[in-house]
Amino acid sequence: MQFSTIKGLNHVKARLIEAANKDHVAHAQLFLGPEGSANLAMAIAFASYLNCEDPGENDSCGSCPSCLKNQKYIHPDVHYVFPVSSTKKITGKDVVSNSFLKEWRQFLEGDVYGDISDWSVVFGGENKNLNISKEESRSIIQKLSLKAFEGRYKVVIIWMPEFLHPAAANGLLKVLEEPSEHTVFILVAHDREKLLGTILSRTQLVAIRSFDHLEIEEQLIAAGIPEERASHLARLSGGNLRLAFRTASEQAGDQVSSAKDWFRFCYGRNMKELVRRSDEFHSMNKLSQRGLLKFALSLLRDTLLVHYGDSQLLKLPEQEKDFVRKFSQVVTPEKIEPLSLLFSQALFHLERNASAKMVFLDLSINVSQNLNLQHLEAKH
Ligand SMILES: [Zn+2]
Repeated sequence: MQFSTIKGLNHVKARLIEAANKDHVAHAQLFLGPEGSANLAMAIAFASYLNCEDPGENDSCGSCPSCLKNQKYIHPDVHYVFPVSSTKKITGKDVVSNSFLKEWRQFLEGDVYGDISDWSVVFGGENKNLNISKEESRSIIQKLSLKAFEGRYKVVIIWMPEFLHPAAANGLLKVLEEPSEHTVFILVAHDREKLLGTILSRTQLVAIRSFDHLEIEEQLIAAGIPEERASHLARLSGGNLRLAFRTASEQAGDQVSSAKDWFRFCYGRNMKELVRRSDEFHSMNKLSQRGLLKFALSLLRDTLLVHYGDSQLLKLPEQEKDFVRKFSQVVTPEKIEPLSLLFSQALFHLERNASAKMVFLDLSINVSQNLNLQHLEAKH
């Protein structure tokens, strides 16, 4: 994780980099940001910068041995502490972060913007009695008593200190106040109200605002979501990147299942259903009508990619991937161009205010013919 992987927040990055370069790094910092913000990503990028062997003006180098270890979350001087609970396999005194490092890396690789319930799913904690225990605070102190053996800094990232058991918090007060030299604590929190005053008073605040609408939109587009849909989702997300991605994948699921049904009705020449769908389509607003046709077009494009074995496809949400794989078995490459043309024409007519019902019904009949033509050809 580097600063460059986080959109925006340039003043926060600049402030952290300046502190590192001037050797004025506060030894206990609180990265406070709302859910779905970059607070954890920023803490990891900062830890990488602090121990980078060849840091640049704006970022860690990303390629030195230290950066490579940080990218895999295995740097021996960067310690992660997070809420855990007992599971079927891990109980009692073993319920500390160290026992869950493999799952923690999985979680970070999956979604560094995830929340506590996402984390609970990853490690199998079933959302029960999560906390950062007294046992954990002992283990932190023990780790810090070892000499730093690689990097310039020892960094302890405590994710969600809201879950610190009071006894654990008390156990940490002394090291937060007087840590050994070149030790940095980064507490990554969402909710200031849930933190103990004694912790707050010992940490320097680094406020991480939520992402703005444009920053979310750009990240959705980069993940392969069409522009119009990305912009819509960004506006709905309220600055929560996790939410934006979740909604994108749920909506994709809905759209995929309705596109799947519709293609099936076309293939089976089920006119009764196709007429009903045309009525449904007619009652949608213009933006959704266009969105649906554009989505179908993107499915066709992805189907073509499957035929040519393009790995771009791996970025798609699971349901979409599954659909285009199956769809590609029915729709051969030479059929995709005429099909795409039909969709482009339908979009053209919609934009010129033709009756949405007629446009959709025409499209259904033409797609139905095209798919069945292929069906016959395939038999011969
Ligand atoms: Zn580096």
